[in-house]
Amino acid sequence: MSTQTATATPPVSDKLAIELVDVNKWYGEFHVLRNINLSVYRGERIVICGPSGSGKSTMIRCINRLEEHQKGKIVVDNIELTNDLKKIDEIRREVGMVFQHFNLFPHLTVLQNCTLAPIWVRGMPKKDAEEIAMKYLKRVRIPEQANKFPGQLSGGQQQRVAIARSLCMNPKIMLFDEPTSALDPEMVKEVLDTMVSLAEEGMTMLCVTHEMGFARQVANRVIFMDRGEIVEQNEPNEFFANPRSDRTRLFLSQIL
Ligand code: ADP
Ligand code: MG
Repeated sequence: MSTQTATATPPVSDKLAIELVDVNKWYGEFHVLRNINLSVYRGERIVICGPSGSGKSTMIRCINRLEEHQKGKIVVDNIELTNDLKKIDEIRREVGMVFQHFNLFPHLTVLQNCTLAPIWVRGMPKKDAEEIAMKYLKRVRIPEQANKFPGQLSGGQQQRVAIARSLCMNPKIMLFDEPTSALDPEMVKEVLDTMVSLAEEGMTMLCVTHEMGFARQVANRVIFMDRGEIVEQNEPNEFFANPRSDRTRLFLSQIL
């Protein structure tokens, strides 16, 4: 768990980063997202929680089109997600994503993992890409691991590489899907601390996590999902002190 002191976080702007309007999605017959409405402003730090299977991963994966929604509208950084591949590419360039299972390339070194997309997607010269990669590896405090392979690193270190790799693409928005839930407990803090420092720098963040200490410390909004719906949302103090719905109360009683 991160330190409990409140963090100085930058103010939230009035410019929209992400907008979901009446978003619905089905997996075959199964209605996985039901009328999702969500406006995320630049600089917001949103924590999404809810029972397993409630649609949290599906919702954030729709934001960078790892999943396709069937109804409603998703707009990211003023670009609407349609089947237009150019627009999907544009959005993916703005949005970084960090997964539960790191998803690093095992046959590439840490440095190569970080420079791959800048070189091949952005066309950046190798030397510049390496310089930027080292800057972010320093930020996540593992520059000395640059020439190792992922398998030689601890889980916490691998997840910090995954965060650095995302940052190398200079994203405007970061999506996290349970970034600490595959980690041994002693490694959770080092990853959360990295996320806290990103939040302090004003990154727009959507984090699916059950780390409620992190939610209290950095989130400006906590969203509770259940059965494909956003059941309630509030600023963290109110969310934890006065959950409005029975479903939220039940969920919180199980995890806190
Ligand atoms: P969460 O992240 O909240 O645990 P998910 O978004 O992963 O929930 O999944 C929501 C529901 O959709 C679950 O019931 C899950 O089994 C189902 N689901 C997820 N992915 C698929 C898929 N590719 N095909 C069919 N069903 C899926
Ligand atoms: Mg999930």
